[in-house]
Amino acid sequence: MPRTSRKVLVGGIPLGGGSPVVVQTMTNTPTSSAASTLEQVRGLALAGAELVRVAVPDEKSAEALHEIVQGSTVPIVADIQFDAELAMRALRAGVAKLRLNPGNVRRRKQIEAIAAEAASRKVPIRVGVNSGSLPGDLLERFGGPSPECMWMAAERQIGILRDSGFEMIVVSLKASSPRLTIDSNRLAARECDYPLHLGVTESGPPLTGSVRSASALSVLLEEGIGDTIRISLSGDPAIELTAAWAMLSALGIRRRGPVIVSCPTCARARMDVASLAGEVEALLSGRTGLFSVAIMGCEVNGPGEAGEADLALIGSPSGILLYRSGKVIERFDCPAEDGVANAAQRLHLTEQLRSALISEIEELAAREEVRVVREEHDPGSS
Ligand code: SF4
Repeated sequence: MPRTSRKVLVGGIPLGGGSPVVVQTMTNTPTSSAASTLEQVRGLALAGAELVRVAVPDEKSAEALHEIVQGSTVPIVADIQFDAELAMRALRAGVAKLRLNPGNVRRRKQIEAIAAEAASRKVPIRVGVNSGSLPGDLLERFGGPSPECMWMAAERQIGILRDSGFEMIVVSLKASSPRLTIDSNRLAARECDYPLHLGVTESGPPLTGSVRSASALSVLLEEGIGDTIRISLSGDPAIELTAAWAMLSALGIRRRGPVIVSCPTCARARMDVASLAGEVEALLSGRTGLFSVAIMGCEVNGPGEAGEADLALIGSPSGILLYRSGKVIERFDCPAEDGVANAAQRLHLTEQLRSALISEIEELAAREEVRVVREEHDPGSS
């Protein structure tokens, strides 16, 4: 039974209340440089960010916020850690949401003042707990970070906001441990009906960090817990978006952009699947059309996958076959029994396959993008 959360609007984007799970990320440029931050925000919006958070560590960053908010195509969220005055300045700059860390913004009077200003502007506040910055007294009481310790840190700040009559609350309980993230959010889901922002904090470099994040977020989303997600990786935040959308798509929750299916290869492979798949992935990065491409080394699982995909390149005893919508449209000779006879032929064949596949993909991607845009403007058109 999915959890029912109340709906909160962030710059017109609904969080909770049965709305689609919203994908967000965070810039890593200096916020004080409005130009470089805006450039990154725009790139992230194109890569699939529906909300973008910026850290506001100092006055210069607060000064740049107005320009960032005005120039952004997606709602901007201000991340506030220690200085309550920066929260007030962010609100006056027009941000769509604030994140307050209860471990670092703790004075009742300050939180009340922020709540009053946020309420007057209809700006929600995320009570954003992080296992690395929990209040010392709670750590002592619970003997370290635990789900109860995380929830209590949130509950304290939620209590002050609610006492001020403020209800536009979003909650996050993030830990670097996927296990603690799961248990903490299950507890929060039982204890409140505010929208939950999910994430495994400081999850690591792109590959292992994506796996660590997905291992926790998939469990929670599958239980109906979570209204917005951020996958926190060290490096380019655009990779966070690729990982977030891949996870939502894999779970059948939301889909954006093409899916690539490719096999790991083995001794039966009749072509260089890995390099073709890498090239196709780069070609499709940032595309929004909904279609699938399969690249399979041989006939063991190839025809089955080709039947499911919009485009497929499959190794077979009669050559390497290019499929469109499950039908063979081109065949490439593959002279040797186990693939291609020599290096020159292999290179030539790879180049032939590459150009045929890429021109098919470009045509399909352009057509599907037009269809997605048309459906966004007129959902009943197909
Ligand atoms: S599809 Fe063929 S080449 Fe690829 S892993 Fe399976 S058996 Fe090996």
